[in-house]
Amino acid sequence: MNQKTLFIFPKRGLYTLTKCTNCGHGFQCEHCDANLVTYRKWEKNLELVCHQCQTYYNYPLKCPKCASTEISSYFGGVDELVEIVVKESGNPVYRYDDKKRSKEMAITTNAVTTRIFDPSIPYSNFTHIVFVEAQNLLASPDYLVQEEIHKQLLELMLSISEQTEIIFDTNSPDLELFIGLARLDKNHPEHLDKKQWFINFLTTEAKSREMFNFPPFVNTLLLTTQQKNKDKSFEIINHVRSELIKIKQQLPDLTISSPYQARFLKRKGMFSYHVLVRFPRQYKDIGKLREEIMQLGSIYGVQIRLNPRHLF
Ligand SMILES: [Zn+2]
Ligand SMILES: [Zn+2]
Repeated sequence: MNQKTLFIFPKRGLYTLTKCTNCGHGFQCEHCDANLVTYRKWEKNLELVCHQCQTYYNYPLKCPKCASTEISSYFGGVDELVEIVVKESGNPVYRYDDKKRSKEMAITTNAVTTRIFDPSIPYSNFTHIVFVEAQNLLASPDYLVQEEIHKQLLELMLSISEQTEIIFDTNSPDLELFIGLARLDKNHPEHLDKKQWFINFLTTEAKSREMFNFPPFVNTLLLTTQQKNKDKSFEIINHVRSELIKIKQQLPDLTISSPYQARFLKRKGMFSYHVLVRFPRQYKDIGKLREEIMQLGSIYGVQIRLNPRHLF
């Protein structure tokens, strides 16, 4: 049978880090402080892109700090992977992440995608499916994102043929996810089938959500500041938290977290901090709580989200 490999690599661009080799200056977005990702515009022409706010920059010719011209980019993304696979195999690579670029190309030997599961991909046509740097599947701390990733892995595993082999390329095989996935092997002493594997995950996940007071066992309200000044943003979230502690005196069933940084602390020039409030399901004082929270929101200009998908 013709060997065909699909590489799954959810990391866009050519390189994810750009630095001055002389002084170590790192190139980051002016609005977000996020590391800029290198893309190839055409031929040798490169550009830097911020994935958080979509700002584009010319690839630097010299360092703004020390004026050295020794600029290097590291940590490859999917574009670099494609260049490597083309070189090693001598064949073109079909890009499910960029079908425009592959329009004229019949699906040849190998393909890449940046999505974990994509219903338009004929998975059973591949002999091998390789998750490149599979530890990145666990990069998000959000529990709902983790649930979605497990769901997509299950869909993928249900879409392949018996002959397809899935390979998880990772530097951390000891992570719980990979220990669980290893049990899908028919020779494993604690073998699980694909659906049992997913049910197993959901059961463990439900227990830990109950223990740590997360939905669906409680409701959550995420209050978020958005300020141009970092200190002011932190000051406001602390005020909001003190007000919440006062509200708790009338509504003792509330749980209030300490203030914490948003995952993207700076985004589009705005700094964000969160406070997480938990309250019981079918809460008897929901009317009073809503009134108090809405008032807090308008006084302090904080964003309020009920049971949001992302808590960080
Ligand atoms: Zn420099
Ligand atoms: Zn940005």
